[in-house]
Amino acid sequence: MARYTDSVCRLCRREGQKLFLKGERCYSEKCALVRRNYAPGDHGQGRKKISEYGVQTRTKQKAKRYYGVLEGQFHKYYEMAIKQAGITGDNLLRILESRLDNIVYRAGFANSRAEARQLVTHRHFSVNGKIVNVPSYLVKAGDVVAVRHTDIEVIKGAVEANSARPKPVWMEIDPENLSAKVTKLPDRSEIDFDIEEHYIIELYSK
Ligand code: SF4
Repeated sequence: MARYTDSVCRLCRREGQKLFLKGERCYSEKCALVRRNYAPGDHGQGRKKISEYGVQTRTKQKAKRYYGVLEGQFHKYYEMAIKQAGITGDNLLRILESRLDNIVYRAGFANSRAEARQLVTHRHFSVNGKIVNVPSYLVKAGDVVAVRHTDIEVIKGAVEANSARPKPVWMEIDPENLSAKVTKLPDRSEIDFDIEEHYIIELYSK
């Protein structure tokens, strides 16, 4: 499966928005977007006119990069979203937010979604007491995600580094026992992601 291997900061600079792909660095002055807030490449600082299709494509790319999801899986989430009641864009973001790697990251047990994915793959988390090693596992309302062994340095370090950052209101986090209960899946207003998801829906609806 093809994975992006170049500097992830280039992705943020391409989108002109922080995608929080590098953990602590993203919150510091060292963030590449703070220092060079223009697109990478020779023409990165030039003015560019972007078509409606271009805006739709960029928006989809941004969401895929933010959540670390490839095209095939992303399209599956769109198909799930259109089958659900309500606004398709809201449904799509809710599905993405319910991925286990995202829950681990949002709860502060990892510094980035990429790190969360690795920790999940390495069997460090359980859902309702059962080991789950699939980052794309979709967590449901009422599920409890827990760290299996509380002495993992990477997780302890992330919890400490993330302790002061705001946590989602749709989770009850127990930092002592390193567990998080998803009390409900989030409404759009509770998802901290600056994106106009309707462009993605318009693109896929063509
Ligand atoms: Fe993006 Fe983080 Fe790099 Fe800043 S430090 S450009 S937010 S990945």
